[in-house]
Amino acid sequence: MSTHDATIPSSPTSKDPGTVKMHSYWLDTATPSGDYTQTPLPKEVDVAVVGAGFTGLSTAYHAAKAGKSVAVLETNTVNWGASGRNGGMATTGLAIGFRTAIKRYGEQRAIGYFREYNAAIDLIEDLVREHDLDVDYARTGKMNLAWKPSHLEGLKQTAEALHRLVDQPVRIVERDDIRSEIGSDVYHGAMVDPLGAGMHVGKFGHALAGLAVDEGATIHEHAEVVGLERKGSTTVHDIQTSRGTLRAGSVVVGTSGYTGKPFGWQQRRIIPVGSFIVVTEPLPQEVVDELLPNRRMASDTKNFIYYFRITPDNRLLFGGRARFALSDPSQDRESGEILKKAMHRIFPQVRQARIDYMWGGLVDISMDQMVHAGERNGVFYSTNYSGHGVQMANYMGKVMADVVAGETHRNIWRDLKHPWIPGYFGKPWLHLRAGGAYYALQDRLS
Ligand SMILES: Cc1cc2nc3c(=O)[nH]c(=O)nc-3n(C[C@H](O)[C@H](O)[C@H](O)COP(=O)(O)OP(=O)(O)OC[C@H]3O[C@@H](n4cnc5c(N)ncnc54)[C@H](O)[C@@H]3O)c2cc1C
Repeated sequence: MSTHDATIPSSPTSKDPGTVKMHSYWLDTATPSGDYTQTPLPKEVDVAVVGAGFTGLSTAYHAAKAGKSVAVLETNTVNWGASGRNGGMATTGLAIGFRTAIKRYGEQRAIGYFREYNAAIDLIEDLVREHDLDVDYARTGKMNLAWKPSHLEGLKQTAEALHRLVDQPVRIVERDDIRSEIGSDVYHGAMVDPLGAGMHVGKFGHALAGLAVDEGATIHEHAEVVGLERKGSTTVHDIQTSRGTLRAGSVVVGTSGYTGKPFGWQQRRIIPVGSFIVVTEPLPQEVVDELLPNRRMASDTKNFIYYFRITPDNRLLFGGRARFALSDPSQDRESGEILKKAMHRIFPQVRQARIDYMWGGLVDISMDQMVHAGERNGVFYSTNYSGHGVQMANYMGKVMADVVAGETHRNIWRDLKHPWIPGYFGKPWLHLRAGGAYYALQDRLS
């Protein structure tokens, strides 16, 4: 079979929806480092971390390594949130793009913000090397695909700015050459950045939990934080959880798109938006070699973005916003069906491939789509990764461990204004509809 003919042969189960698992492929193919549902709650710790995603687990690991007593409090289980549900793409660059960052913040600050993402990928790589983690980490690069001809012009300008200002080794792939990067003729060119990486985020989250526990942190699953009582004007809090109360010298909130009532100030600054993923059955080698020959982490330039990659066991993972919605089993299935059609449009080669997994999760969008981290009313927090948290949440965990220890300057995002979302009190529906209509229009007009 020539590479351009590679397709999946029809299989009897290809269209059988009953075989689809409605949960994350990553969690299904990773083993937890332990069962933390019964871990006794300590009476008092130096640092209590809320949320056992990458932010919380990384904060716990680094704070415990620095000698602090640490407890991680999690409503569900380790890696249950976005950290166990994402595309597994540790990509370079800001959610808003480099040129927008320059316009908004000026060159010097934009350069600083951009470099944090490179440093965040380096941190994952260091961790993987230092502990010999089996997490399928590979720096195969990322690519941004131009949905429209005008978008390629934009990518070219971005590439020029990245070369000139940060020496980023990006390169442009013209439309004529696009088959060297992707087995699809839908896109008008691409920008490739070899510094992007991919990994198995199920294995990574569980490994991070194991590292935190090895350093002496305790993890408490099924321990929802339901209230906080600040002691005077200090950072000390009594924390009420569904498993009892404990006192912490500092509290770090890493609840991302799942931020709820006990953290009202943060909640009013995060709109949770559903992002959805479908994963095919394992594909023949010649098919994956055609779809993404260089195994890049790919995303396109639409507002209703598509992103895709090959998993470590040769499946096509295809994700996107699909539509502006939250995530629950019925939304995930509806959005999954939309994505399946989109995937077939981009890659007709996999029309016959069985879909093995379909799921969704929440990303944490703010007004400015920038990371927001710092301290408010004595509570530390790091949130708002805007769909770019695989690298940044893990990185911010290390930063927050330093911040809690008094090194506030380590937090480069500390001076960003963090306005509340007007009219938003934690009920995202209205905002989702308005936002969805706006972005759909932008995609049509751009
Ligand atoms: C479908 C999808 C695809 C994505 N793809 C990518 C990608 O390819 N690349 C990328 O960079 N980013 C991606 N992201 C974003 C990335 O996954 C997140 O930014 C990152 O995982 C956030 O990590 P976190 O630890 O801050 O939060 P989460 O992993 O969401 O963890 C928050 C945790 O807090 C817990 N919690 C909430 N409230 C409480 C409470 N009161 N008490 C105790 N626990 C509580 C929740 O149960 C949850 O487990 C994607 C996100 C989604 C949903």
